[in-house]
Amino acid sequence: MVRNNIIGFTNSGKSDKKIFSWNPTSGLKNSEEGFAVANDEEIEEALNLAKSAFSELSGMSSILRAEFLEEIGNQIILLGDHLITTVVSETGLPDGRVIGERGRTVNQLKMFASVVREGLWTEASIDEAIPDRQPNPKSDIRKKLIPIGPVVVFTASNFPLAFSTAGGDAASALAAGNPVIVKAHEAHPATNALVAEAIQRAASICGMPNGTFSTLYGNGNEIGEKLVSHKEVKAVGFTGSFSGGKALFHIANSRPDPIPVFAEMSSVNPVVVFPEILSTESSQIAAKLANSITLGSGQFCTNPGLILIVEDRDTEEFINLLGQKISESSVSPMLTKGILNNYREGIKRIKNSDKVRTVALVEGFENGTPAIFEVDADDFINDNHLAEEVFGPSSLIVRCQDTQVLKSVIEKLDGQLTGTCFGTKGELIGNEDVLQILQSKVGRVIINDVPTGVEVCDSMIHGGPFPATTDIRFTSVGSDAIKRFARPICYQDFPDSLLPLELQNRNPLNIIRKVNGELTRSSLVKLSVSGS
Ligand code: NAP
Repeated sequence: MVRNNIIGFTNSGKSDKKIFSWNPTSGLKNSEEGFAVANDEEIEEALNLAKSAFSELSGMSSILRAEFLEEIGNQIILLGDHLITTVVSETGLPDGRVIGERGRTVNQLKMFASVVREGLWTEASIDEAIPDRQPNPKSDIRKKLIPIGPVVVFTASNFPLAFSTAGGDAASALAAGNPVIVKAHEAHPATNALVAEAIQRAASICGMPNGTFSTLYGNGNEIGEKLVSHKEVKAVGFTGSFSGGKALFHIANSRPDPIPVFAEMSSVNPVVVFPEILSTESSQIAAKLANSITLGSGQFCTNPGLILIVEDRDTEEFINLLGQKISESSVSPMLTKGILNNYREGIKRIKNSDKVRTVALVEGFENGTPAIFEVDADDFINDNHLAEEVFGPSSLIVRCQDTQVLKSVIEKLDGQLTGTCFGTKGELIGNEDVLQILQSKVGRVIINDVPTGVEVCDSMIHGGPFPATTDIRFTSVGSDAIKRFARPICYQDFPDSLLPLELQNRNPLNIIRKVNGELTRSSLVKLSVSGS
């Protein structure tokens, strides 16, 4: 039997080409059931339907959108254990991690539902008219964010739920009022099918327009390239490799009408370790770091891939402790053969450098092999390849003779998602300049904790300067992620009844707005714009 593409409320399998679901632990097919690869006609159908859904969605109440997001969460929960066993069979991730990720996915959907209800995200702002202003009268000017149009989401191999079919990108794009077309990841098509069907059911229950959600299967780059080039697509969300993200970014910018691509790509997440703190906390920091490096076989975008140590008397002991912890860590399967091969190549490249010394390397050839290497700062600075992401459970220690050298190493780094500092209070205050340089390179600075574990909340920034992402101004985690898929629009001297609800005088949605420079929920009862 073949599972089909989902195009709005219909299922469609027009091509003979199929992809299959594989078990990364056994290396065997999960079933003979294939997933129909979308052909050109189906891509066209999904995009045309998304276009018509977009105009309908624009007229719908935000409350209905919030209910839709919550219903997707309910439908995901109703999938029960079948969803968990399916994810485990396609990713090799342990049950506990998958159950946790399902919880995060549902909570993200709920969070975006409350963001939509609260309405603050629309940045509604009103500057009232001043008809008798001298020398010229001032018009009534109002502004808010509106949805951008159909969004293509590339799902992530390393987060089969939370960054996939109903994950952060899809949820935030839907929350803003956009139709979404999900390009399923080849690594977890069966998981995609289950979640997509849950979204399809939720759309039907909530009366969403046909085409609000579609998902298409494909392998190779063809389908992704076609989607990003398509004239009806207005924005792209992506999590994956640097080469993939960069290629799609290039396609989007080469269109006659370039569109934004929010790609989260590669990051080595430098961790600075100052010397004084090691005199009392060496063992705890080594344990924390080892755990963070090997968590989920290191397949996290915030994995600490670089440890910058300012050398002192406790350095050797700390490196030995970290090596020991890494040696004791278990070896687990990686998500896909491709990721495993990339990891092996990356490890080989580091190991083969004559400037690099191996501190610990756990052998486990069929799996991700946890590893720690070390290199002197000068050698690191002179070899660009050593600063590249090796996606998996490994990290490179860079030994810096003093803070001056440390600063040169940080200066050398590309943009990152995170930067971490372990230090005593005195060390942190005394090295404010190091924190400043680090801040210029990253989207999130962490003090005395590890970068893995990304909280989903209003203040989170999961983004950073290129090549961590393609747009430094936005986050892909947390409530602000919704702003990626919106654009501002200004209404000048509009009749009240023609304005969107967020900007009408009465403030019918009771949202917080900026009125004449002040944040308030009050209505503008006294105002009467011509025609209102
Ligand atoms: P990927 O190869 O970048 O693929 C991600 C998605 O993008 C897939 O659906 C893929 O479709 C599509 N795609 C990739 N390149 C494309 C192109 N040139 N044109 C059109 N579509 C394209 O990422 P992955 O498979 O998840 O993992 C591969 C490597 O990416 C890993 O080894 C790791 O180095 C890196 N990675 C990094 C992160 C991170 O958070 N930093 C997360 C995941 C992966 P097809 O497969 O159908 O072509």
